[in-house]
Parts: sequence; structure tokens; C-alpha cells
Amino acid sequence: MKIVDVRTHLLDFKLDTPFESASMRFDRRQHLLVEIVCDNGLVGWGECLGPARMNAAVVHGYRSRLLGQDPLQNEVLWLDLYHTFRDQGQRGLSLTALSGIDIALWDIKGKEFNAPISTLMGGRFREQVEAYATGSFRREGVDRISDVVAETKRYLVEGFKATKIKIGFNLEEDLELIRQVREAVGPQMQLMIDANHGYQVDEAIALGRRAAAYDIAWFEEPVLPEWIGAYREVKEKQPIPVAGGETWHSRWGMLEPINTRAVSIIQPDVCGVGGFSEFRRVVDMAQTQGIRVVPHVWGTAVQIAASLQAHATIAPAPVRQSPLDAMFEFDRTENPFRQAVVMQPLEHKNGVIQIPNSPGLGIEINRDALEEFKLMPEPGDH
Ligand code: CA
Repeated sequence: MKIVDVRTHLLDFKLDTPFESASMRFDRRQHLLVEIVCDNGLVGWGECLGPARMNAAVVHGYRSRLLGQDPLQNEVLWLDLYHTFRDQGQRGLSLTALSGIDIALWDIKGKEFNAPISTLMGGRFREQVEAYATGSFRREGVDRISDVVAETKRYLVEGFKATKIKIGFNLEEDLELIRQVREAVGPQMQLMIDANHGYQVDEAIALGRRAAAYDIAWFEEPVLPEWIGAYREVKEKQPIPVAGGETWHSRWGMLEPINTRAVSIIQPDVCGVGGFSEFRRVVDMAQTQGIRVVPHVWGTAVQIAASLQAHATIAPAPVRQSPLDAMFEFDRTENPFRQAVVMQPLEHKNGVIQIPNSPGLGIEINRDALEEFKLMPEPGDH
């Protein structure tokens, strides 16, 4: 079997109501799918985390090295592609683009051997996952606190047992939001906070000390991801477990935060960290140091499917009668093509998602949706 084509699909939707985290504004949803085609007709799909157009450019940069190659040699191809950009691209787009390719190669392998990717990776520790609702961004033109309170109450009604809210905007307003959300959802719902690296170190420590009274399961990306030492400082000086890792790519990017125990929870994203191959290495590294793994997920149903396969392979740690399982991040913000890109949506029921067990990623792509949400070229594009 040989690879005969590597294609990219840029998907785009302009939001009616833009929303923002502490560090980013979203007025469009844009995601990139990767399609790898083989000479025997097998097709594999992947997705890249991050800026879709730039990921597409890097995927095209890798393309010529993949054509004519055996897709089953995925680790060999991974290393070849990584090495191509090694000197200038040890993390960031070179890894997010490589992730989409690696996922597509694993999808092909699963289809070739007629097994889910999780089975090929060593087996499934679980058939379903507990999802937590991710949303609660600041939306343009609405009162932030009442909007987020109403949103989290909806998740409770939908059956979610956990949700994560966005902070990192303003210390006092963030604390008031946390207080009101906890009051609205009651003591049973797990509540997490995500600052999207919006705070200074001292602010993060102050917020963590005061927010701990509201029973917060974790404090995500309190400070800039480059400040590994600052993560450890925030972890040591306030009581809420610190989480991070969605921007730390590859085994090398994860090495220092894991080995210095800078976080309590590490959050590799299969579409960013380097695909399935690298995800597994990072999980092993984290579990070797006793760090909990709760993957980051943000994208279309292709990313959800890949993350579900990856999730199935995370060993319980520690092994005990009622393990503290990784929860599944389930994006609830507006994105009309999130589930439309597959024939059968990967939805939750009462906050629980079943992990597909058909070959590869276990999804069938809806090509009509790829057409419908195709990013139109801008003037000057060629
Ligand atoms: Ca996050």
C-alpha cells in the first residue's frame, strides 16, 4: 500500500456572536482536516489543532515526503517528518500539522487491520467516558456573569456532572463569577476554572487561594505556558490542583513540566501533541511521575473521535477499585460543522459519550458538510 495523495480541508463558519477567552477572540470557527489517500482506495482522516490556514501550509510542506510511502510505517514517517523541521520546529505548527497526519495514518492502519485504533494501541480500558462541558466564554454584547450562570445551569439540565468556566479577565469579576456559578449549579457538579494563561503569577496565586472555597477541581493554564517554573510556583502556593499542557507539544515539550512536577494534571491534545504515537508516550511519561492525565479536546468530530480512541487507551492510575478516570473535554460552544462533518454525530447522553468501536477512528466523513463549510479563498490566495 502506498500514499498517493495528502489533502487538506479548511472549514470555516462566521459566528453570530463572537466570544473570547482571556487570550483569544473567536469571531469565526476554523478547523483543518487532513485526508490521506492510498493507492488501494483506503482513506484516512486527521485533524490539526490551531490556526487552520497555517496548519494547512505546514501539511503541504510535509506532503512530498509522504507521497509513495507505506502508510503503515507511521512511526517511521513520524520521525522523518519531525526531523524535516526539527531545527526550526520543535513545537507549535510543525507538531500540530504532524498530529493531523499521524492521526490519518492511524485511521488507515485501523481500516487496513479492521480494528479500532485503541485496540491496535494495546486495548481499551473503557468503552465510554464521562464528559465535562466546556464553554462559558465571555460573549460579545451580553452580561458575562448572568450569561455564564445561565449556560452552566443548562449543562446541569443536560446531565453533565462537570463543567469548566473561563476566567483570566479580571480577578474580582472572575471570583464573583465563580461564586455565582457555584451557587447556581449546587455542590454536586464538578467545577473547573481555565484562565487561558491570562494572569500574572501573583494574581493566579491570589485567585487560587480565594477560589478554593468554591470547591474547584482544577485551575487550568493560570499563567503563560512558557513559564514552567511559574506553574510550579502557582501549584505550591495555592490549594487548587494546577492543570496545563494543551500547548506543550511532543515528548520533549512535555519533559520539563512532567519531570519537575510543575502541574498536577497534564492535558495533552492528540491533535497538537504529535498524534497518537506521541500522545501515548506523554501519557506514559506523566503516569511514570504520578501526574494525572486529562486530555485537551477542541475541534470537530474528527478530533472528538481521535480523542475518544486515545482516551480509551489511558491506563487507570493508580489502579484501584474506583479509579479516578480522566474526564473528556466536550466543547459546547457554537460550531455548526462540529458534528456535521461525520455521518453519525459523537454526542453525549447524560454527560456520557460512547467510544466508537468500528475500524480506525470509527467515523464516516460527510463530504457534503466539507463542501458546505469550505473556507472560501481570500483575495490574493492562490
Ligand atoms: Ca484550556
